Amino acid sequence: MLFRSAALAGCGSSDKLIMGTNAAFPPFEYTTSQGLVGEFDGIDVAIANKIAENVGKELQIEDMEFDGLVASVSTGKVDMVVAGMTATDERKQSVDFSDPYYVASQVIVVAPDNTDITSAEDLKNDKTVGVVLGYTGDNIVTNDLQLAEDKVTRANRGIDIVQDVKNGKLDAVVIDSATGKALAEKNGLKIVEDPQAFETEEYAIAVKKGNTELLDKINETLSEMKASGEIEQLAMEYDEKLAENNQ
Ligand code: GLN
Repeated sequence: MLFRSAALAGCGSSDKLIMGTNAAFPPFEYTTSQGLVGEFDGIDVAIANKIAENVGKELQIEDMEFDGLVASVSTGKVDMVVAGMTATDERKQSVDFSDPYYVASQVIVVAPDNTDITSAEDLKNDKTVGVVLGYTGDNIVTNDLQLAEDKVTRANRGIDIVQDVKNGKLDAVVIDSATGKALAEKNGLKIVEDPQAFETEEYAIAVKKGNTELLDKINETLSEMKASGEIEQLAMEYDEKLAENNQ
């Protein structure tokens, strides 16, 4: 698999603020011919750009597997992870999280004519289910629903696993709400919501434990963006942008 990186022109690594992400998660991060930073675009890219402005550095983006992001930031390979990452208790043991900036939950993506999956509980009826490796959705199907191992397929990219519902290889994919909706729309699939089974999750930005200097700047930027309504605005803008481009 090919992961790319992009930076605005600039020199010297200390001039850069390095963001780790997994750019297969629209509307938060995805690649496109003309992105906000190189080929990268999305709500998280826009937020990270503001943070970089606030710390007076240029944003550099490192695209990698979602499962490796926590290790990358805790070993200092990247300065922060902005990846629609849910601030879970487990991850809090390895990294420090900013204030939350977005509330999501999991949804189930199924074929448009599917009638036998109307709740999370229905996935237990021998359904083949896809998730992205290491996502909260993976944790839910593995630990909460306890689906049989041979029924679960784990992929590295949300974009790819949803294709498997489209081509009939999988009955369902469990994935975050905004991304599930964007990908379902793009692929002519259907969303099943089950708020009782899927709790709300808060997205936050991760930094290396103890990096309070950067964390304070991140929180400052987020609180300004929240107060001005900019984050909501971005969410609406990217919804429309993706619908138009059918990303
Ligand atoms: N919110 C989910 C998680 O943190 C998925 C994030 C993502 O794919 N980028 O696990």
